[in-house]
Amino acid sequence: MNEYDSAKMLSVLSEAGAIAVTSAQEADLIIFNTCSVREKAQEKVFHELGRVRELKTHNPDLLIGVGGCVASQEGEAIVRRAPFVDLVFGPQTLHRLPALLAARRGSGRPQIDVSFPEIEKFDRLAQVSTPLTAQDSPRGTAFVSIMEGCSKFCSYCIVPYTRGDEISRPWPEILDEVRRLLAQGVKEIHLLGQNVNAWRGAIDDTDEDQTADLAFLVSQLAGLPGVERIRLTTSHPCEMSPRLIAMFAQIPQLVSHLHLPLQSGSDRILAAMKRGYTVLEYQSVVRKLRQARPDISISSDFIVGFPGESEEDFERTLRAIETIGFDASFSFIFSPRPGTPAADLPDTTPAGVKSQRLQRLQRLIETQSHAISQAMVDTVVPVLVEGHAQKNPQELAGRSANNRIVNFAGHPRLIGHVVDVRITDARPHSLRGQLAQTL
Ligand code: SF4
Repeated sequence: MNEYDSAKMLSVLSEAGAIAVTSAQEADLIIFNTCSVREKAQEKVFHELGRVRELKTHNPDLLIGVGGCVASQEGEAIVRRAPFVDLVFGPQTLHRLPALLAARRGSGRPQIDVSFPEIEKFDRLAQVSTPLTAQDSPRGTAFVSIMEGCSKFCSYCIVPYTRGDEISRPWPEILDEVRRLLAQGVKEIHLLGQNVNAWRGAIDDTDEDQTADLAFLVSQLAGLPGVERIRLTTSHPCEMSPRLIAMFAQIPQLVSHLHLPLQSGSDRILAAMKRGYTVLEYQSVVRKLRQARPDISISSDFIVGFPGESEEDFERTLRAIETIGFDASFSFIFSPRPGTPAADLPDTTPAGVKSQRLQRLQRLIETQSHAISQAMVDTVVPVLVEGHAQKNPQELAGRSANNRIVNFAGHPRLIGHVVDVRITDARPHSLRGQLAQTL
């Protein structure tokens, strides 16, 4: 979501006449787009702010802004702690950036707007071009945000407080944006939302009873000429309806990968997290997904060391991972977010124990993930070529359907296209391959 929001900020500012520069020293405006999901990320913002502060002494016109979830959570407190900050705005008010800049320049005072003006953000953003497109970056893939916020209120999570309730973007606007992207040569539509599968919309403006869901949206998008891949991030297990699961059998463009956070393998901890499902219910969703799409890979988020997590709870998480089988996943030690219910729970697990648990869990996931990569060796997979390889710019890099980076030799004209690649080697963080077709 943050990458998407950064792109939208760039778009809004470009429309207002701003030009991107390559170094902070050249800039008249520096914006930090922040994340408050973990404490470390939050502290990093203030550290980075301290680093750019002195640039103001060389360039008195320089303005510094803080956007994103830390801004939303801290609001005025950011300016109290860092009085040289000129703008503070939340994820729902980033479209107001030009007006905030004008107000700052006109008044000489810091501007703070961390309100939740509901659908206004989508209304405004629908009129601006999306910078992450084939034109600006010939990656062939583009994010399309279809819903914002979250109404689930997991006990540890700050997102419902910083981004507000779930709001779905109207279907006609999504369709417009996707059509624009396809016209620019985009091949992969990456649908984004905190709970992307909680999207709901009216099919027809004249009949509000006819509510559409993500299954409808995916099937409609797949019917558009030029849509070669559709990705979803992030899906909530409670929102995996039978209709949506059936899409994995019916819509070949839906990639064989789903990020479906489990968080813990202990029902007791899941209840304390207020996740709304049991391990058995989660397994049932995965089983149905695999019936619909046998080769689907599932990745997850895991929180280790949630308050009250016993050794037995943690062992249950390891067993769940072994039973379900996950692809590359994100895992973190619990980080109390002020204002969330879990921040007040007694937490007696020593930090060292939490670190050891995290290492054990990550080792297990890595083993499973590597086994999936290894099984891809000697198979031919479609790869969306995103650009030049990081380590060797003479080579190309792209993504397989299950989200692996594949490096291979090929002509730059292939960038932005889906090509067949034979996988020759599985490395820890990428695959190597050879073009399987003459192009
Ligand atoms: S589903 Fe839970 S973890 Fe995910 S954004 Fe919502 S509250 Fe946070």
